[in-house]
Amino acid sequence: MTKLEALKHVFGHSAFRPGQEQIVDHLLAGGDALCVMPTGAGKSVCYQVPALLMPGVTVVVSPLISLMKDQVGALTQAGVAAAFINSSLTPAQCAKALDGVAAGKYRIVYAAPERLETQSFLDAAVRAGVSMVAVNEAHCVSQWGQDFRPSYLKIRGFIAALPQRPVVAAFTATATREVREDILHSLGLCDPLEITTGFDRPNLWFGVCAPRDKKAELLRRLDGWRGRSGIVYCATRKTVDEVCALLCERGYAAARYHAGLTDEERRRSQDDFLCDRVTVMVATNAFGMGIDKSNVSFVVHYNMPKDVESYYQEAGRAGRDGSPAECLLLYAPQDVHTNRFLIEHGEAPAELDEAQSAALREREYERLRQMTFYATTTECLRVFLLRYFGERAHGACGNCSNCEQGFEERDATREAQMILSCIARMGQRYGAKLVVDVLRGSRAERVTSLGFDRLSTYGLLKDEPEAEVRRVLDALLASGDAKLTDSEYPVLALTPSSGEVLRGERAVTVRVPLAKSRAAKKRGKGSASPADEGLFGALRALRAQCAAAAHVPAYVVFTDAALRDMAAKKPRNEDEFLEVSGVGDAKLRRYGRKFLDCIAQYEREHPES
Ligand code: ADP
Ligand code: ZN
Repeated sequence: MTKLEALKHVFGHSAFRPGQEQIVDHLLAGGDALCVMPTGAGKSVCYQVPALLMPGVTVVVSPLISLMKDQVGALTQAGVAAAFINSSLTPAQCAKALDGVAAGKYRIVYAAPERLETQSFLDAAVRAGVSMVAVNEAHCVSQWGQDFRPSYLKIRGFIAALPQRPVVAAFTATATREVREDILHSLGLCDPLEITTGFDRPNLWFGVCAPRDKKAELLRRLDGWRGRSGIVYCATRKTVDEVCALLCERGYAAARYHAGLTDEERRRSQDDFLCDRVTVMVATNAFGMGIDKSNVSFVVHYNMPKDVESYYQEAGRAGRDGSPAECLLLYAPQDVHTNRFLIEHGEAPAELDEAQSAALREREYERLRQMTFYATTTECLRVFLLRYFGERAHGACGNCSNCEQGFEERDATREAQMILSCIARMGQRYGAKLVVDVLRGSRAERVTSLGFDRLSTYGLLKDEPEAEVRRVLDALLASGDAKLTDSEYPVLALTPSSGEVLRGERAVTVRVPLAKSRAAKKRGKGSASPADEGLFGALRALRAQCAAAAHVPAYVVFTDAALRDMAAKKPRNEDEFLEVSGVGDAKLRRYGRKFLDCIAQYEREHPES
């Protein structure tokens, strides 16, 4: 079998995506590789195709045990002998799986990093002969990454303990230089091919909004997305519970997922979501790593996450099959404080000494600062994201909320001076709300009792709406001409560059949204014609039956993209069926007849189509 045959016959893809082929070739030639690809780019193919062509077994290290089952399920459906070994198995199941590995029954074995240390796993691996070790979410090995997992440091020892060094391939969606360096060293990669594919996901629409009432805004948006499947991420378990209850009350088929639920409840929520019995999953960030549900068509962040890496990874779970999808962040300044609190009180891994922990925390604050810039920027959101991941974008994208909104620049030097001067006169000891109140001449008790109504800056901006004063203040914070202190209750303070603005040596401009004239919404669903939609519906129903019979999630049978392609191509025989994207030999054998019959029947009943 050649690599293209494996790609086509097993996975049903007719061509490699950018980067995939180069990686496959390199691994097959015996070289190590470090692959940085965004979520949804298709990392699995990069190691699964070589795994089928190499002798012995490929060990795939993966951090989240809850998802290995699904990945192995998908491989099994495609006709690949695969197994997983983790703590969700009973000792008897585990022993059986290990026997299978040792007997050379499997081409691919998924294992949690902790497993690699055990003698029984090592023995089985040695007997099977390990050709390749593929490390998923490889950034977990780095102390500077956003999800450091000390157990990842064991991978290197496992590789060293094998009689023959296997090919080692590392995969991650995190691209910063430090993390990359760390992966190279901590995994002991030998002269690896380093590949970074484009981070852009053109089918994703990005949006940020800062609504006064998040619940109302969420309901408004979801109303426009009825019937579509999506995830709402919240910062805390309590918020997950509240939002989920609200959605259920409003008639949405919603489920929740967080670490406070029993394993059983979590498993059920996840299955219900994967099998489309519920359409909206309300979850903390505990949900979703490795989830390859291809028809997730929106991801809303009800709270701002702690860094852009997390945001892009979570948002990236939308639109995995290439269909248009929406990623919306609902921002409130309170989110910054919540995250600061979490960083402040988070526990550093026990392996780190005090200086290392302090440095780690510093980086977390810096990442949070960047995330806050994303939430408040007026530039093209895609340009911002790509720059963050070290890529240059080719101009504004036209497919994000800032591009759609449109902005005009306005000089705000005079207001900026008033704000800075007011911060100074109030002794640099108060937060944004009070400063804005004083500038706007509020009669609030707190203002008068502190005597701020007697300041010369009191009421200077009394004719400006609060939002405008806030906008100028945000611009000063973003440019570093004012800052929020790191204290428990952050207060506004001046910076070394404040003086330039105060003395009129530098102008301050703000970008003001143009009056609402949002171009007609051009983001429809897919390109299928109405007749195709009818067939698509019939195919979906058949897929649901097949999935239920095989006890697997629907997308494991066929992805939405595959069904859409099927509805467009309307294959009439097995050869034509193989032309459908996502159809390989195993799927043809297993489902070909049924789906071909379904299409033929649909065409008989709808001769006009
Ligand atoms: P990642 O692990 O990088 O997030 P996956 O490996 O889960 O991404 O792949 C994402 C989706 O892209 C899957 O639905 C997969 O079937 C699809 N895919 C991967 N490679 C190809 C390809 N060469 N052609 C078409 N679809 C592909
Ligand atoms: Zn844009």
